[in-house]
Amino acid sequence: MKKPVSIVWFKKDLRIHDHRPLARAADQGPFLPLYIVEPELWAQRDYSARQWNFARECLMSLNDDLSKSGQPLCILKGDALSIFQSLHERHGIASLWSHQETGNHWTYDRDRRIKQWMKSHSIPWHEEQTGGVIRHLTSRDRWAQRWDRVMTEPVTLASDRFEALEGSWPFKLPNAQELFTSSDYCVNRQHGGRGEAINLLSTFLHDRGQNYRFHMSSPLTARDACSRLSPHITWGTISLREITYAVRARLSEIETDPSREAKSWRQSLSSFLARLHWHCHFIQKLEDEPRIEFKNLHSAYDGLRETIENGAHFIAWCEGRTGFPFIDACMRALDQDGWINFRMRAMLMSFASHLLWLPWRETGLHLARKFVDYEPGIHWSQVQMQSGTTGMNTVRIYNPVKQSQDQDPQGIFIRRYVSELKDIPDAFIHEPWLWPAFKEETYPLPIIDHVAQARQARDLLYRLKRTPESRAVTVELVAKHGSRKRRVQTKSSRSSPLNKQNVKSQLAFDL
Ligand SMILES: Cc1cc2nc3c(=O)[nH]c(=O)nc-3n(C[C@H](O)[C@H](O)[C@H](O)COP(=O)(O)OP(=O)(O)OC[C@H]3O[C@@H](n4cnc5c(N)ncnc54)[C@H](O)[C@@H]3O)c2cc1C
Repeated sequence: MKKPVSIVWFKKDLRIHDHRPLARAADQGPFLPLYIVEPELWAQRDYSARQWNFARECLMSLNDDLSKSGQPLCILKGDALSIFQSLHERHGIASLWSHQETGNHWTYDRDRRIKQWMKSHSIPWHEEQTGGVIRHLTSRDRWAQRWDRVMTEPVTLASDRFEALEGSWPFKLPNAQELFTSSDYCVNRQHGGRGEAINLLSTFLHDRGQNYRFHMSSPLTARDACSRLSPHITWGTISLREITYAVRARLSEIETDPSREAKSWRQSLSSFLARLHWHCHFIQKLEDEPRIEFKNLHSAYDGLRETIENGAHFIAWCEGRTGFPFIDACMRALDQDGWINFRMRAMLMSFASHLLWLPWRETGLHLARKFVDYEPGIHWSQVQMQSGTTGMNTVRIYNPVKQSQDQDPQGIFIRRYVSELKDIPDAFIHEPWLWPAFKEETYPLPIIDHVAQARQARDLLYRLKRTPESRAVTVELVAKHGSRKRRVQTKSSRSSPLNKQNVKSQLAFDL
């Protein structure tokens, strides 16, 4: 009789470094590293071919690392439960190891079914926490301290030799044409794989990140000044803990440097650390309240924007033809790059929800598909925040003309993506409809009066926010989801519990 196999199930943790389920399974003997390509997942409305192409590169890189250590990756395609059933029938499953996944509703349901099945077959499923996101959290109090603790735990180093399983296992890695019915050409998409992640982190920490704090808002500078690690964090080619250690090691290096340059680095890297914290803070919201993928967090906003009432507006927004040059440039840039900076994401969302009065679920789905870094927990929380449906946050209605003047004063970004406007005089680049020689055949007129729409949206949302019933709901929501204001770890926590030497020795790579 053959021995049943232990399986390490890779999902959005496509690395061998700082991967506890993998290390723990490997400690017990040979194991099967498995990735399941689930066509039903990739057919969900929030997933897209550009994301698959990125994940596919990560899987190839993961397979290289696993193969070097003696046990190549097995890739199977199909429904995950049926695959586990068939593996169990053929080989017997001794145990399953994975990270907990806070994904969309579909993955949540799939994991529930698999858990039931594993239980009914007495197969232990060992799930490890992902980053700082806590399953079955009862209170947000001291959550931030728990996050700090997790990020200061030792990085799990990857073994350079795994005990190999007998036999050969399938490696069926489909391309996008096999998995998707329509194409999704993203010309400047970032590339997947561990090497890419390490390179981005290194160039960010030593070269690109110095002015991160000041350059993150404009799409002209953010492309280089931001870390660009988001798709790698989403697909797990590098862990948040590894990034946190590397940032702290860099901060330790410049801790006592009195130069202006070092000061600017320290400020930028502290802002960056805060964002790593936000990453988990937002995913925690979806973990605690899975309905926010579909329903308003705050019930006072129910019934406001349930369906797309103006299909032409929706299409114009999706295609970058609203007649607002900066909005259109951002949407077209996102289409070509698969990424855009935070402020522009917020502006695109706010424009759709407040000025076009479109339902956030539909516009959020469009953005999700365009983002290579789509992370349901961050995405749906942010989509609702920018749409004013959380009740907890200040309603922010961006003025698309002012943003354009502030973030792209000379229209360089606009001209790069909206080629129809390349010859327009500088004075009219933000509001081309005011140019006496403007031709509607070349570029559309604005599809709305943005000032009047903003006023209407603001009045309505504030009225709803201020009712006594609404305030009562807000108090409950803040207690459950609100961040407990605190200073994110900077100087003091850098010296404890990790001293400089310790920080350096925890890095699984050289920067
Ligand atoms: C409507 C909307 C939707 C968004 N959807 C996503 C999404 O699907 N996936 C995603 O990773 N981010 C999302 N964000 C947050 C943010 O825009 C991106 O994380 C950031 O632009 C990624 O680029 P970067 O890695 O260069 O970020 P950096 O500025 O270098 O930040 C480093 C990391 O910190 C985290 N981070 C940064 N900003 C935020 C934030 N505001 N909230 C939570 N985490 C943050 C991310 O993991 C990011 O990779 C969304 C923001 C908005 C307004």
